[in-house]
Amino acid sequence: MEICRVLGWLNDGNFIDSPKATTADLAHFHNPLYINAVAAAERDGSLPDDVAQRHHIGINGNPIFDGMYQRPATACGGGLLAARMLMADQTEVIYAPGGGQHHGRPDRASGFCFFNEPALTIMTMLEQGAERVFYLDLDAHHGDGVQDAFADDERVLTVSIHESGRWPMARDRSGEGSVEDRAGGGARNLPVPQGFNDVELEYLMEAAVLPLLADFSPDAIYLQAGADALADDPQSKLALSNSAIWRAVAAVRDSGSRLLVAGGGGYNPYSVGRCWAGIWATLCRVSIPDTLPDAAEACLRDVVWHHRLGRNAPEHWFTTLADVPSVGPLRDEIKQLARTTLEP
Ligand SMILES: [Zn+2]
Repeated sequence: MEICRVLGWLNDGNFIDSPKATTADLAHFHNPLYINAVAAAERDGSLPDDVAQRHHIGINGNPIFDGMYQRPATACGGGLLAARMLMADQTEVIYAPGGGQHHGRPDRASGFCFFNEPALTIMTMLEQGAERVFYLDLDAHHGDGVQDAFADDERVLTVSIHESGRWPMARDRSGEGSVEDRAGGGARNLPVPQGFNDVELEYLMEAAVLPLLADFSPDAIYLQAGADALADDPQSKLALSNSAIWRAVAAVRDSGSRLLVAGGGGYNPYSVGRCWAGIWATLCRVSIPDTLPDAAEACLRDVVWHHRLGRNAPEHWFTTLADVPSVGPLRDEIKQLARTTLEP
């Protein structure tokens, strides 16, 4: 947001602070006992063992930390406000990069997601009059929590492109997130191999996602734009450049439906900031400068990342927004994936 602000892309006319969701809002999807447990963990810094075990808080990769309730509750408040504004036709496109917590479960935390903002937001879109909502998940991890939330609801089609074999797929023996997994009809899954490149994402968008989108003809689209499928992200072995994500965002934008774009995963703060600032430029149809002006470069130089990759940060992480395109071969397995996805 700071990069967007110094580049003149954000102003009082197009920016709204997210309100914090109330416990009643959160209870549309989450168990009240679980909501209370997250609040208690934030307040006390710890939980009794049985409560922690029951709700997977402080274990299984869901740490207890300062702001662990306030932050996701605010992400949810942003999503709910966005859903209401879009369905009231107050605007056509909203960007809420704090959202996208796609792993959260009704009664437990999962994959660092405490409250499932996409699920709550899509529920609100439906309550506010949407008859069909299309969910597209570009995060490197399978959007399992959202898929399961709407598995029995034919009003929602969830489509997830994610790294094959990566958590939560790898440990889950049910085959969830595989190309065969359609959650009874309400989901399509496109697990992609390591090294997934810009050419391959563009192909999957053209050959699978956009045809599905056109066929479903939704009243609203929720796009989860996790930044962990980028080549510079340490959590996945996918190899996208940010311009491939921007092209996917532009293609969805041009479909003409109401659109909410959210964030998601992303574990390299430089690549997250550069990618997500560029998403806003894409949504606003403003051109992205080849070289950043000093004030925007300073935003990136202020970032501290205690990671091996951060200590040897290449210069273009500070001076540009657009990555060098990640051009590679279009592999047969990607073409097969698109074909299988469109089969009845
Ligand atoms: Zn992820």
